[in-house]
Amino acid sequence: MKLLHVIVLSAAKALGLAVVLAAPGANAQRAETFDKRVKQYVVHDAPSIRIDNVRIVDGTGAPARAGQSIVIRDGRIERIAASETLAGEAADAVIDGKGRTVVPGLVMMHEHLFFIDVLGEAPMYNSEPFAAPKAYLAFGVTTIRTAGTMHGTDDLETARMIREGKFVGPEVRVTAPFVNGPGSFAFQLRPIADPAEARRIVNFWADEGVSSYKIYQNISREVLAAAIDTAHQRGIKVTGHLCSITFREAAEMGIDNLEHGVVVASDFVADKLPDLCPPRDVPEDALLALPPDSPRMKDLIDLLVRHKVAVTSTLAVFAAGIVDWFPGPDDLLMLNHESQTSALRWLARYRGAPERRERALRLLQAEMRFERAFVAAGGTLMAGTDPTGWGGTLPGPGNHAALRLLVEAGFTPLEVIRIATLNGARYQGIDDRVGSLAEGKRADLVLVDGKPDEDIRQLGRIDLVFKDGIAYDSKKIVESLKGKVGR
Ligand SMILES: [Zn+2]
Repeated sequence: MKLLHVIVLSAAKALGLAVVLAAPGANAQRAETFDKRVKQYVVHDAPSIRIDNVRIVDGTGAPARAGQSIVIRDGRIERIAASETLAGEAADAVIDGKGRTVVPGLVMMHEHLFFIDVLGEAPMYNSEPFAAPKAYLAFGVTTIRTAGTMHGTDDLETARMIREGKFVGPEVRVTAPFVNGPGSFAFQLRPIADPAEARRIVNFWADEGVSSYKIYQNISREVLAAAIDTAHQRGIKVTGHLCSITFREAAEMGIDNLEHGVVVASDFVADKLPDLCPPRDVPEDALLALPPDSPRMKDLIDLLVRHKVAVTSTLAVFAAGIVDWFPGPDDLLMLNHESQTSALRWLARYRGAPERRERALRLLQAEMRFERAFVAAGGTLMAGTDPTGWGGTLPGPGNHAALRLLVEAGFTPLEVIRIATLNGARYQGIDDRVGSLAEGKRADLVLVDGKPDEDIRQLGRIDLVFKDGIAYDSKKIVESLKGKVGR
């Protein structure tokens, strides 16, 4: 007990936080059972903690409230009220939140726990159960939905190890291995040839414990229909990064979510062949050729809204190497030597090709316009990162880049925080416990030295990340990642 208090004090001091510890309570501290791998980053795990004089941004889109206190007890948010009201509330530790803001832990929707094997002879992905989850947590992400994997068992076991306090990371909600047809770019994407096979595989992963499915680019309508039907029978939602199927077809077949947005849609391709994915340039050219107020775009948006199909924004993966500021130099320092060399080679390829970059920028802007119009029409937009493992879009920094790009797309920082918290929680049906700051919800929250609701970039100034009411030292985790990300 005593030792832990010393750790709390010294870690808090390093963060410039004033922490007052009350007399140690009799309750056991929960992180005591954690592996030392995790325990080394725990700043605070007393059963009750109060954060005083803090601004609260609750994730619902409501403006910040200043002068608030938040009482965390046994992993839950017990009270949120004006600091005067809660001054007498007992707590094992009190943090002075002056000048700081608490936001809900981010709920990010297009995440991955894999990394490209830079030594592979052909596209090959290794699972990344250590650095990736650490980076998510350090950057304030407390819940992720993976969005497809080559390593179903690894991801499920990583989720369990994190739950049991053996690995550092957010809550991981696992999507099954990609549901795809033949003809993928990577040999690890097992092709599914017919509807019966689709049903068998979807059922297999449901039994294993996944909570989502991701359809990939090459699939037939027949197989997609079987996959959606089986998933829905199991009460599990389906998302997709589509190409062979148009957004319209998928919406009419009952898909729940579309990844990346209209920038990957094949809907505008003239004479598109059913069940076949055109070469990548073709749908992109068709999108770029649409006039700004195209009625075809409006029709598609209306259809998606009518069918309640959510869209996951993944602007960061399209902006990496295209905008000047992302990835930043500190991001690349997180990579190990070989992955860093590989990432720099990729970046040089973009940066040395102005025409390619200009085209990518136009596509990014078209996607931003779509996301604005989709939300304006009543659609549910969620935020994701898509860290594909090439090194430019990393878990952690990539999450913050995704949020900043949504602001650049024209959403207010408050809207963006909601998109990246409550919207993802609602879609997953877990908003009774995460996604916003409310009494009774899990104490998954981020203490930021700044006002991210006024300038989203200030989200980069994280002091503490609370998951289940246990506070982790963000900077110490980030420090530990230097030279460690990649496979
Ligand atoms: Zn992805």
